[in-house]
Amino acid sequence: MKINGVKGMNDILPAAVGRWQEIEQVAREVFALHGYREVRTPVVEPYALYARGVGEATDIVTKEMYVFEDKGEEKLALRPEGTAGTVRAYIEHGAHVEGPQKWFYVGPMFRRERPQKGRYRQFHQIGVEAFGIAEPDIDVEQIAMLADLFRRLGVAPVVHVNSVGDAACRPAYLEELRGWLRERAAVLCADCRERTERNPLRVLDCKVPSCQPVLAEAPRLLERLCDGCRAHFAAVRQGLDDLGVAYQVNPRLVRGLDYYVRTAYEFTSDALGSQSAVAGGGRYDGLVETLGGQPTPGIGFGMGEERLALILEAAGRPVPRTVPEVFFVSADDTGRREAMRRAAELRRAGVACDLDARGGKLARQFKQAERVGARYAVVIGGNEASSGQAKLKDMATREEAPVALSGLVARFRPTPA
Ligand code: ATP
Ligand code: MG
Repeated sequence: MKINGVKGMNDILPAAVGRWQEIEQVAREVFALHGYREVRTPVVEPYALYARGVGEATDIVTKEMYVFEDKGEEKLALRPEGTAGTVRAYIEHGAHVEGPQKWFYVGPMFRRERPQKGRYRQFHQIGVEAFGIAEPDIDVEQIAMLADLFRRLGVAPVVHVNSVGDAACRPAYLEELRGWLRERAAVLCADCRERTERNPLRVLDCKVPSCQPVLAEAPRLLERLCDGCRAHFAAVRQGLDDLGVAYQVNPRLVRGLDYYVRTAYEFTSDALGSQSAVAGGGRYDGLVETLGGQPTPGIGFGMGEERLALILEAAGRPVPRTVPEVFFVSADDTGRREAMRRAAELRRAGVACDLDARGGKLARQFKQAERVGARYAVVIGGNEASSGQAKLKDMATREEAPVALSGLVARFRPTPA
């Protein structure tokens, strides 16, 4: 009986994995350049962590999370995002005693959503969290770092920034907004009407076309920020200008959770169609305390690797592939023994090489050399093994030249960096 994989959970096959490896490699380089260090936390956490840390009233927790009982002992969840687990680890290990911390993570996340382009049930996020810094320079550095990551991959998503205020200015605004929305309930969608009561800020995020012209007129928190939030936002904008990071102020960009304050940001790309966000970030100064830690400011982002892969594909960026430099083709058993020894020698010298371990006809071996994308074939013919000679064939130009087997290492050894 054939068993298929779970709906919405994808295999990343060797032909495609180069895309993911490149994204992760560039991310690791960029993070290292900015002092972010990797943290690895489990993919399973207590359900309570997300109920508290992501919010019991969010779609993620109510509708999208995979929840299960661990043999009747504890209610657990597959992680739907990376921040809550990272914050738990930060608190659990008392990391605050070491001063401000800049951490990143890479790994699979799970949400039971309706699968479609750019939306899957297992997907991968690359994210960062900076703990212990309330000042706007860390916001600036983090947004600029993410822009740099994209730049290195040859794409430039649109950067949106906003301020969602804080406990001093947001409550009054929320009441004003709620009243304004109630007056327009008749022309808003059902989701908007429900969110007006539960979480009015999220209404601004509505994607339903008929709601757009109405919401465009909604009162703006940006014009009602308290002095502290206004100064913080001005400093973030100034800092981004100083570093030459292009951005748009988007007054309707929100994070729906109470502990999000001040800076909210998002990177979007047209290449994604309706799932336009590739990364979302924001400041969450209340979260560490909410999860039982010392009051600690924090700011982070989560970026979807699958969506970034779609953007790179749309931009025509080729999928990197590792190919052998040399593929040994041998005519007979003596040749194969020689090929095995020379391949081992080359590999020890750091040269990627391969051969068709099935042996067999020369034509089939050449076919395999082509399939794996080898740059050169070294053909060890019937009498050549004993003479120490072989033929070197350039697989692209088809040119052939004699080569001494003893000279292969010198010929192919990578020049030290
Ligand atoms: P959306 O509005 O598209 O549902 P979100 O607000 O739920 O996004 P976040 O929780 O901010 O997304 O996650 C950060 C990033 O993770 C997103 O910008 C996106 O790139 C990626 N992401 C989120 N959910 C999925 C998913 N189901 N499949 C693939 N990528 C996802
Ligand atoms: Mg979502």
